[in-house]
Amino acid sequence: MWIGVVSIFPELLSAIASAGVLGRAIERGDLALAPFNPRDHAGDRRGTVDDRPYGGGPGMVMMAPPLLKTIAAAAAAAPSPPWVVYLSPQGRRLDQAKVEGLAERPSLLLVAGRYEGIDERIVELAVDEELSLGDYILSGGELPAMVLVEAICRLLPGVLNNQDSILTESHLEGLLEYPQYTRPENVGPLTAPEVLLSGDHGAVAAWQRSQALLRTWQRRPELLAGRALEDEDLALLRAALASVEAEGGGAA
Ligand code: SAM
Repeated sequence: MWIGVVSIFPELLSAIASAGVLGRAIERGDLALAPFNPRDHAGDRRGTVDDRPYGGGPGMVMMAPPLLKTIAAAAAAAPSPPWVVYLSPQGRRLDQAKVEGLAERPSLLLVAGRYEGIDERIVELAVDEELSLGDYILSGGELPAMVLVEAICRLLPGVLNNQDSILTESHLEGLLEYPQYTRPENVGPLTAPEVLLSGDHGAVAAWQRSQALLRTWQRRPELLAGRALEDEDLALLRAALASVEAEGGGAA
């Protein structure tokens, strides 16, 4: 897959792109990540890409000409016409289903804004979709763009060493993942659940499924709303809730 990112701070992108799963995917060629700097397409030698907003108001706005030229240059460099996403607090909220849809595209171009945002005509002329990370304001679109790149990268074939982990991860199947434990067996007063040390794969799988259902029910009940659970899942959830009640617990 090819992903271009339009940003005046390419060094922010490369810092994230050089580590971990993402760094490995780029190194192996599973993902090509290309930065495009609007300052390279500025109309002056100082690389000016922003100007005061028409009508007044605080801050500066990213100008249309350098950004449109950058988007055109990036599109020309892409192996196929890219789907253009502007990371914006005014866009649709990003979720796993959207990430999965975007991961199917061969080419994506992500536009990171700065200052007070970008001239609206860029959105009208060159953007296919606006996506938000959440209802809060960041100073720039670089981190949202790289959040999206990392989420997509994990879904690309061959990127994760253990493809199975994709299947149980939170939100992949509409559930939160079960709690995880590793050595040592005892941490202060807490012992890892006995079933996980039993070597009984069927019992472990049933426990993990019941905990995933229980966690989702306790923490994010809206994820289960309107979803018809299989009889087996329903029985696991009921049993998990009964055992929480018997222990005198309830809240997560
Ligand atoms: N004035 C804009 C507004 O009120 O909608 C906010 C501009 S923000 C300070 C600068 C840039 O950060 C935006 O152009 C966008 O690219 C990015 N940004 C900020 N918050 C974001 C969020 N929640 N999701 C995605 N991008 C965001």
